[in-house]
Amino acid sequence: MKQDIASIVSCLDGYDPNALRVDKAREALRACLTPIVAIGANVERVATRAALGRVLAADIVSTIDVPAHDNSAMDGYALRAADLRPQAETALTEVGSALAGRAFAGRIGAGECVRVMTGAVLPAGADVVVVQEVTRCENGKVIVPAGQQSGQNLRYAGEDLKAGATVLRRGAQLGAAEIGVIASLGIGEIGVYRRLRVAFFSTGDELSSIGTPLAPGQVYDSNRYTLHGMLTRLGVEPIDLGVVRDDPAKLEAALREAASCADAIVTSGGVSVGEADFVKQTMARLGEVLFWKIAMRPGRPMAFGKIDAGGKSAAFFGLPGNPVAVMVTFYQFAREALLHLAGRTGDCSLPLLPVPAAQAIRKVPGRTEYQRGVLFREGGEWRVRSTAQQGSGVLRSMLEANCFIVLEHERGRIETGERVQVQLFDGLV
Ligand code: AMP
Ligand code: MG
Repeated sequence: MKQDIASIVSCLDGYDPNALRVDKAREALRACLTPIVAIGANVERVATRAALGRVLAADIVSTIDVPAHDNSAMDGYALRAADLRPQAETALTEVGSALAGRAFAGRIGAGECVRVMTGAVLPAGADVVVVQEVTRCENGKVIVPAGQQSGQNLRYAGEDLKAGATVLRRGAQLGAAEIGVIASLGIGEIGVYRRLRVAFFSTGDELSSIGTPLAPGQVYDSNRYTLHGMLTRLGVEPIDLGVVRDDPAKLEAALREAASCADAIVTSGGVSVGEADFVKQTMARLGEVLFWKIAMRPGRPMAFGKIDAGGKSAAFFGLPGNPVAVMVTFYQFAREALLHLAGRTGDCSLPLLPVPAAQAIRKVPGRTEYQRGVLFREGGEWRVRSTAQQGSGVLRSMLEANCFIVLEHERGRIETGERVQVQLFDGLV
């Protein structure tokens, strides 16, 4: 991370820590974070198959043409366009066959054709494939109808990927398709960034850990489980530092441990107005942390900065304590920031899809709302409604929902049928 966070964010247009717009908060995070670099211990070589979710540390350049040969795109007959009669049927002599992986050894001569299957290397001399369904056999000849075009039903060498082409760039996060493409080049091992190490803990005197009975006034610490799930899904290495009591010495020890072992720290709780005083002082001593009031719901309080310990520095994300607010702030801010730190390049923001609202939705201008929504199909059309409970402590609303309804800052009440933007949970939560 660069040196002085306060001076970087103060240069941003319209930066106001006490009423920070969602887009400004994202901009501030971006401006202050420095991604992992592709040197030394930051790069690991892994088997292509084991690279799902990892981020490429170097470009992938093709050393071969894919496909390697011109081949047939269909089952049918390979032949020479020059032999075809333009206005009438043509009768040809079948001289052999070619299957995928078993080429025809000879060359097609005048008046000849070769039976070919999809993927078969195009026989020498052929420049067109006619699909088998339009042909027929008559008196030992293959009859081809008029109207065939030279080049039809062929796949050319290098059509998918050309030798020398950059196929994937450093910073690409690998999904199933990327891994398949790398395998199609015959590459069995690749260089990826090491996984970003993310330490996380919950704060709160009221928290009880699973396995101990609840005393009066206690709640089970669910945020650490949600955070573990969200971090794992993101492809980072989660480091669980447990529950930390609302005690300055314990908080300091936990933050020091986190900064010395991780690239980033994510915590829940302790950043709301009532609690922030000792937290603020502790964090100020350990690094540089900004306390934001974000113009959003849920998730108004959030802290961001860096913590230094043991000669190392870690990016810090202090998320609110309410269970839904943790998930919303994680997905709206921490997700993108952590992917950026992990070396992923390009736009990794979540897509927003417009859908008509199935009911009126209450909303006041001046903050961005992330309501839990249910996207459903009615008479062939997709619509969205909000879940009944929208409290930031009601984690069950995340179960009922299958999307966030994102209601923009300026927007007021939404009437039935008006379009709203949604972000799907599928593949996310
Ligand atoms: P805080 O932001 O620390 O004031 O917490 C706000 C609310 O979230 C309180 O009602 C807490 O009990 C609840 N909360 C805080 N941390 C957790 C946690 N780890 N698991 C479940 N609920 C929590
Ligand atoms: Mg608390």
